[in-house]
Amino acid sequence: QPLTDLAPDQLAERLSAAQADYQDLQAKGLKLDLTRGKPGADQLDLSQGLLGLPTTNKDRSGADVRNYGGLEGLAEMREIFADLLSVDTARVIAGGNSSLTMMYQVVTWLLSHGGPDSPRPWAQEDTVKFVCPVPGYDRHFTMLAELGIEMVTVPMREDGPDVRAVRALVADDPQVKGMWLVPTYANPTGSVTSTEVAAELMAMPTAAPDFRILWDNAYAVHHLTDVETKSADALGLASASGNPNRPIMFASTSKITFAGAGVAALAASPENKEWFLKRLSYASIGPDKVNQLRHVEFFGDAEGIRAHMRKHRDLIAPKFAAVEDALTARLDGLGIATWSRPIGGYFVDLNVLDGTAARVVQLAKEAGIALTPAGSAFPHGDDPDDRNIRLAPTFPALAEVETAMAGVAVCVELAAAEKLAA
Ligand code: PLP
Repeated sequence: QPLTDLAPDQLAERLSAAQADYQDLQAKGLKLDLTRGKPGADQLDLSQGLLGLPTTNKDRSGADVRNYGGLEGLAEMREIFADLLSVDTARVIAGGNSSLTMMYQVVTWLLSHGGPDSPRPWAQEDTVKFVCPVPGYDRHFTMLAELGIEMVTVPMREDGPDVRAVRALVADDPQVKGMWLVPTYANPTGSVTSTEVAAELMAMPTAAPDFRILWDNAYAVHHLTDVETKSADALGLASASGNPNRPIMFASTSKITFAGAGVAALAASPENKEWFLKRLSYASIGPDKVNQLRHVEFFGDAEGIRAHMRKHRDLIAPKFAAVEDALTARLDGLGIATWSRPIGGYFVDLNVLDGTAARVVQLAKEAGIALTPAGSAFPHGDDPDDRNIRLAPTFPALAEVETAMAGVAVCVELAAAEKLAA
């Protein structure tokens, strides 16, 4: 029976039962952490072979990878990304160790120089605004806050951002210069942007002539089931609708090989690519080609990466199942929580009773379970409904995920019972 339907005496009973369970939970003296979307050590072990590579100093063209040069990255690395992202190799730059850094470069260079189609550098506008689907990736939002860019939110749905809301924001306001999007297995909702939604986003009229969609495909190949969802063809759709410079695509092997020691990539229109490389030429003499060659030798081709991702899936899918089982066991039918059942990516998105997310996180903390701060998936950490919690089950061992999630479910029920009984 939903907690919201209980008579006051039944609710009081429920509250004391939840309080008793919570005391038992605290008595366990747990020290568990579900905060960051990091790979587990067993996942990192899958890539240990990288450390003995490369076996040669030369790339396919005969260039010595130990030396400077090759700003756009090794052709063979760019081919692998092109295959994974379904774009032409000519569009791809293989970069350093972090796609987030490439995003930061794009945004700062748009501010300092403007893009190829900008009337002036963005920094010379009175105000620059970005559309932010929520809940979203906290670092996207903190980056914009740091750079003084205003954020306007739209809801993220199962098939991508609410296009109607996006259209309304971009149509008449030339200050709205850009938008974040994690198209496949979004952080944290797991949503996959459909081709229909992507097509609308690429074609919609925008008041800003230099509107950019930062298409962060961090989880493009991170499937949790045998359904290997293909991402919408952002660059193709944008070209077809006459806005080739609108999307800039990012990806990396951070959650394929080593987090923070992988290879990042950017893919974009010829004009955007030339623009990025020009700016980059003042910041770098070339990427870490040794690491790129090591990755090329390790995987051989894109199929090698797909096979590798199936090994990741085998390690982490049981952890996602444990989250689902724990939440269902305690909360199913109570009317106080909903959660995502992702088929890819790194997160489970939990929505608790409005006004209780911060309390749930506090209760969990006091029982030794660290959760991402409530609101962190919103600009400025502000979830207007105080209901969203991002769960990251990949890093802890399976048994720890089971224990932690059973505890989280107790906290969700206790916080709801407290609120309803108040
Ligand atoms: N983009 C998204 C959506 C992420 O979730 C993350 C990591 O959590 C990153 C980018 C970071 O990528 P990188 O390690 O390539 O900088």
